[in-house]
Amino acid sequence: MRSCVLQGKAKAAGLWNLFMPKESDRGVKYGTGLSSLEYALMCEEMSKCPLSSEVFNCQALDTGNMEVLVMYGSTEEQKCQWLTPLLNGEIKSCFGMTEPKVVSSDATNIASSIRRDGDHYVVNGHKWWILQDIIQSAATHKQHSMILVPMDALGVKIIRPLSVFGYLDYPAGHAEVLFENVHVPLGNMLLGEGRGFEIVQGRLGPGRIHHCMRLIGNAERALEMMLERTQNRVAFGKKLAAQGTIQQDVAKSRIEIEQTRLLVLKAAHMMDNYGNKVAAPEIAMIKVVAPNMAQNVIDRAIQVVHCKLVPFRPTEERDLVTISSLPECLLGRLLRLADGPDEVHLRSISRLEYRKHNLAKL
Ligand SMILES: Cc1cc2nc3c(=O)[nH]c(=O)nc-3n(C[C@H](O)[C@H](O)[C@H](O)COP(=O)(O)OP(=O)(O)OC[C@H]3O[C@@H](n4cnc5c(N)ncnc54)[C@H](O)[C@@H]3O)c2cc1C
Repeated sequence: MRSCVLQGKAKAAGLWNLFMPKESDRGVKYGTGLSSLEYALMCEEMSKCPLSSEVFNCQALDTGNMEVLVMYGSTEEQKCQWLTPLLNGEIKSCFGMTEPKVVSSDATNIASSIRRDGDHYVVNGHKWWILQDIIQSAATHKQHSMILVPMDALGVKIIRPLSVFGYLDYPAGHAEVLFENVHVPLGNMLLGEGRGFEIVQGRLGPGRIHHCMRLIGNAERALEMMLERTQNRVAFGKKLAAQGTIQQDVAKSRIEIEQTRLLVLKAAHMMDNYGNKVAAPEIAMIKVVAPNMAQNVIDRAIQVVHCKLVPFRPTEERDLVTISSLPECLLGRLLRLADGPDEVHLRSISRLEYRKHNLAKL
């Protein structure tokens, strides 16, 4: 309810869909037309208040899914049915790739299937860690394809809600979901049969940079709290701020935040000027650097500001919890494995490095 009122105010002020291009080729109004670099800075600010990405309609996973529909939506009907309500903040979306029966770190592993049957596709599969709201499931048809599936379609069964460190639970959070002979119209295929992998690659770049900027905002806020708390508290005859170990923690945190922000802004600059494909190494680097940095900085802050940073969220706020609003100390940890675990990004970075020097193909 609170976020609905604020959403109305944000819309009226033009602070809505900040990450989207201004308008479509056909002049349909989308968003503000900020560059990745500009939006990255906005994301950092937004992350300082857990509600804000929802308020400005900039929450994961909807942001990535709107971008998918803009970039890869095949027809105007798809855009009318899915993109417009997402742009208006009227529906929610999910992105289903991960499956319990395969090693999903390797995105080529998908056991789900899509079979054509007359004027429908039939989707069968078992997914988890997908939100319990509307749209899309990745599945296979010779090669990967991606298709829009309404979550109230016959055959979509929520097996159980999943929680993350005890958060994100029912009804807002992730779930294990079965797709059993789910019939969806042919027009729900995105981009074309066998082209799902292109979509996955295109989708994850912008989404990753958004998460990284949010993590920088979280780390800044934790450092601020650390500074405030250590200013006046006295231990063993000295203010905490005058203790050498605290000073070192503050300095290390500042250095790590600055390093991360510069790398993230470089990635955003590369995306704006050379495209997501060329920016792939930087995107992989920040996806490793930012969550690890946030974990370090926030952990130092927890040591000093425990009462405020150790997770606690009153039950009435639970229905507003999204990944972006997970308690700061847990978000970094989570993002070291979600959206591609650290090891997978490190693998890509090292492969590119070898390739750059024309060394052995790995
Ligand atoms: C809160 C949350 C939200 C999520 N949201 C979504 C979502 O919206 N949509 C979606 O599809 N998925 C989502 N996921 C799933 C997430 O992206 C996957 O868990 C992740 O990609 C890893 O896949 P997996 O669980 O199959 O682990 P596996 O692939 O089985 O890997 C397990 C671990 O092995 C290690 N590993 C993997 N490859 C290597 C390697 N080459 N070398 C060394 N170690 C390696 C990594 O540490 C990895 O975490 C979410 C997960 C969580 C926890």
